Amino acid sequence: MRHVKPGTYARHTMPGALRRFSPSESLARLEDVDLEGLRASGKRLILLDVDNTLIPWRTEEVPDATHRWIEQAHALGFELCAVSNTSKPERLARLCESMRIGFVRDKNKPSRRMFLLAMERHRATPEETVMIGDQLLTDVLGANRSRIDAIWVRPMAKQEFLGTRIISRPIERVMARLLHRYFQAAPTDGPDPMSPGLYSRETLAQFGKFAVVGVGSTLIDAGLMFLLMFFVPWDGRPLGQALGEWALAAYPDLFRFAAARPSDAAVPILKIPATAAAILNGFYWNRRWTFEARDHALRARQFRRYFVVAVAAMVVNAAVTTVFNNIVPGHPKQSLLVALVISTVVAGVFNFYFQRKWTFAPPE
Ligand SMILES: [Mg+2]
Repeated sequence: MRHVKPGTYARHTMPGALRRFSPSESLARLEDVDLEGLRASGKRLILLDVDNTLIPWRTEEVPDATHRWIEQAHALGFELCAVSNTSKPERLARLCESMRIGFVRDKNKPSRRMFLLAMERHRATPEETVMIGDQLLTDVLGANRSRIDAIWVRPMAKQEFLGTRIISRPIERVMARLLHRYFQAAPTDGPDPMSPGLYSRETLAQFGKFAVVGVGSTLIDAGLMFLLMFFVPWDGRPLGQALGEWALAAYPDLFRFAAARPSDAAVPILKIPATAAAILNGFYWNRRWTFEARDHALRARQFRRYFVVAVAAMVVNAAVTTVFNNIVPGHPKQSLLVALVISTVVAGVFNFYFQRKWTFAPPE
């Protein structure tokens, strides 16, 4: 959910339709809410979404950080009230009791009902109230419809209701893009993970490093192929020759294509260790140097993902080469050259994009 970036939104300059979906501010975590600042601006009632705002979705454990935050809010004199349309009212009651906060449960957000009920119960005006939640389409929209300022927080956990994940979040991402024009990133948040996307200077620098590593891996792949095929001796002949003859004798049907020149049968076999060495090299340097993602606990996961993406990129490479192989009609050599250039660029960008966004993305 990295589209929830810490910062503020210039709501007064937005078109009305967009303003309905705009929080006044977004934060990485509940603990980052500036309680004293809210108090100073005249707020005294905080409405809270429950799942993935106060606690991870569907759990019953209230994180210590949430407990501490609530304590701090109480100490500052805030009244707190959960607003939830949960289908499990007993769980909501248990949770709110353990957090020592009130709650209202009513029609689904973004309906105004719950917001109005909560304000009525606490005798607070919309100006004195603020809503905190992790979803634009329910928490933030519902608050705005009730004229309450909303703070959008990054969801605590990746797990959530399927409908949220496949419908609300993609729409949210689009909304976040639309809101981006009016967004002012919080100055303390370091490099912005979301914008301006592929073209930031940092990303371009990473792409440069990625390309250098890629050239290195290609050289290792090709160099190892040459060594194994022609220079490593085996039984008085080059390994490629010996292995090819053996393969052709053992699996004549499989390696029929190499009948005229047995060493050809060794190519697909030796390509495996050569490619593996190239992938290992790429993983090592991209992890350490390109993306600087040397978190030891993540290494196994990073490697699995790196491998999957690298293999997918090879498939893309082969497919694009095949598609463009006739691009200059009647000139097979030029065609192949053009196809190789296009496929290298496409597969390289594909590889880079997913290694960056998936393999080496910081954990949520
Ligand atoms: Mg939620």
